[in-house]
Amino acid sequence: MKEILQDFTAAELQALVAEYGEPSYRAGQLYRGLMRGKRISEISELSKAFKGKLLERFEDEPVRIRETFTSSDGTEKYLFELADGNIVEGVLMSYKYGRTQCVSTQVGCRMNCAFCASGLNGLLRNLTAGEILSQILIVNAKFGGTAEKRAVTNVVLMGSGEPLDNYANTVQFLRNVTAEGGICISARNISLSTCGLVPKMYELAREGIPVNLTVSLHSPSDEERQRIMPVAKAYSIDEILKACEYYFERTGRRYIFEYSLIAGENSDARHAQMLIQLLRGKPCHVNLIRLNAVKEKNLQGITEKEAYRFLGLLEKGGLSATLRRQIGADIGGACGQLRAGYLDGKNS
Ligand code: SAH
Repeated sequence: MKEILQDFTAAELQALVAEYGEPSYRAGQLYRGLMRGKRISEISELSKAFKGKLLERFEDEPVRIRETFTSSDGTEKYLFELADGNIVEGVLMSYKYGRTQCVSTQVGCRMNCAFCASGLNGLLRNLTAGEILSQILIVNAKFGGTAEKRAVTNVVLMGSGEPLDNYANTVQFLRNVTAEGGICISARNISLSTCGLVPKMYELAREGIPVNLTVSLHSPSDEERQRIMPVAKAYSIDEILKACEYYFERTGRRYIFEYSLIAGENSDARHAQMLIQLLRGKPCHVNLIRLNAVKEKNLQGITEKEAYRFLGLLEKGGLSATLRRQIGADIGGACGQLRAGYLDGKNS
């Protein structure tokens, strides 16, 4: 695979342009073009000769939308194809205040959570910063957004992959997506979700990019959490809570726990009481999600009524919590499902 120009910062593009003997204003033209979601070959201000040289070294289209699925509720899901033919997925949810895009950080995942489709074939490779950014640049362009007037206003790192397992590229992506003069999405409009890689949570707290930190908790007990999340054997809930507390001290950002409700695993009244004990008084919020049953996995969700009962218990216990409405369930809701379905279709 060639290199990816969208990995570069504006300053790095300056150096690159100088390397090719082009005047420095070319770097600005190049950067603006890329931030508008253009391919190198589409940036009309640049000479054919210069573009030809760039294309010998860089991918013209590092990410392209291979397929779009539109849900009855307006949610769009994308299969993105990378330059090496790998597939990742993304979601775009439209709200009154703007659009939130969910992006992937890895092809596959090596965390192997019992309920998640992303890890079905393990980790194939990390995405580069530019591949993560390009998912946003092309969707923003698709909706007529520019770098100055964004169509995509919010970003969540909740697609396939574990962002903190691809730490350097994810942080580089966060720097580039928040950079002034670029697409410049504010850190407070970005949420990063992790299964709880504790040392990397501390590192992230010290980066000076105060994104919203979301942790996939899914159980209030270490023993039961280990049954559904192998990573729980490496880091205890207590260690996760300490890292969250540190994140809050450093950034002032309240943290969020994701909690996917699974029948017979983590959704009894007992679990609600344990969660209340664990989290009461902490500057956090609990996001309940009803499990999207994945056909390869032997776990079931609970009914909406049961989910509201669980929510009621948490609220009564003094926790701030919401039950996330199921969006796009008719188009392969949960992360990894769309790609898994696509790979299935290709293999059969
Ligand atoms: N690796 C990161 C990012 C994934 S975010 C993390 O673990 O947080 C996607 C969220 O959806 C996570 O909370 C994940 O645990 C959850 N999830 C995955 N598969 C799901 C499913 N089938 N139903 C409901 N939630 C699921």
